[in-house]
Amino acid sequence: MTTPQKTILTGDRPTGPLHLGHYVGSLANRVRLQHEYRTFVLIADIQALTDNFDRPEIVRQNTLEVMLDYLAVGLDPERVTFVLQSLVPEIHELAIHYLNMVTLARALRNPTVKSEIQERREREGGSDIFGEQFDIPLGFLIYPIHQAADITAFDADLVPVGEDQLPMIEQAREVVRRINNYYGEGTLREPEGLVGEQPRLPGIDGKAKMSKSLGNAIYLKDPAAEVERKVRMMFTDPNRVRADIPGRVEGNPVFIYHDAFNPNREEVEDFKARYRAGKVGDVEVKNSLARALNEILEPMRARRADWEQRLPAVEQMLLDHTARARATSAAVLDRLRERMGLRPLRAG
Ligand code: ATP
Ligand code: MG
Repeated sequence: MTTPQKTILTGDRPTGPLHLGHYVGSLANRVRLQHEYRTFVLIADIQALTDNFDRPEIVRQNTLEVMLDYLAVGLDPERVTFVLQSLVPEIHELAIHYLNMVTLARALRNPTVKSEIQERREREGGSDIFGEQFDIPLGFLIYPIHQAADITAFDADLVPVGEDQLPMIEQAREVVRRINNYYGEGTLREPEGLVGEQPRLPGIDGKAKMSKSLGNAIYLKDPAAEVERKVRMMFTDPNRVRADIPGRVEGNPVFIYHDAFNPNREEVEDFKARYRAGKVGDVEVKNSLARALNEILEPMRARRADWEQRLPAVEQMLLDHTARARATSAAVLDRLRERMGLRPLRAG
């Protein structure tokens, strides 16, 4: 066996179960690459709290859910190291040092942070007195910098993410360059993002992004009947009130999903042609989509059901893996502290 050289780190916030967007955006790449790369997969519970500090039970409940999703999707615990963020104090110290590398103006310029602030305000309201940016928790504003700490704490080369996360990777790269510039080349490793086949899967409501917090998701753990129900209510071409009206395929979520999930290319092309010509009903196109989705999800449901029988073992796995992962994060932090001229932590 050859030792894999390069390292992957990526993760998810335990704010809810994982969905099809996660799958095509990032999970599928992780499953594929776990054989070639040393892979860390991090459950970002501290970052989940930036939205949920007033209801921490959400984060606690979803941590094991996300672990089950990981195992269901085919991440192999023999190959992957799972990490629970809140048990890795090195990450938080790294983040504190990185905060000095980023100006307030730069933090506010992050386009994903901007649109997430907007979403937050739509969801929760917020005062306009101070303008757009002043009523959000600082913890939320700096989460991309905290994420730079996640990535670099494990010397990651590659970060498989959805498109919305690319600005975070860019910000992480800037932090790394600054740190290396001040404290010496090679202090931190500079990561690259890797976007999946579907960089941003739309929601079943047709909105730009399927997201846990937008309530427009098909979850990996949804039972077959629930998948059928959600597909039936999917947003399509709103102008097409009857099956004999020519419809739009481009930008139509039903066809985006067909492209992403239906392996039968011939069938998909036939649907598209007939849809454009007004020769197929939504019901037929949707039934076939639900079937294709359930074919992908069925083996995941089976694996999930299996692990669900052994929840204490799943929890123990997460703790053991995290303890092992800390050997890497501690080494990275030691390296940075030494180059910054700080006293070593452990020598006392
Ligand atoms: P939340 O609404 O709580 O932010 P989320 O659905 O955006 O949840 P995250 O945990 O923030 O999920 O994201 C985890 C990973 O999945 C990130 O790499 C993100 O880019 C990717 N991802 C999330 N939603 C999608 C999507 N609809 N299409 C492609 N990738 C996605
Ligand atoms: Mg998100």
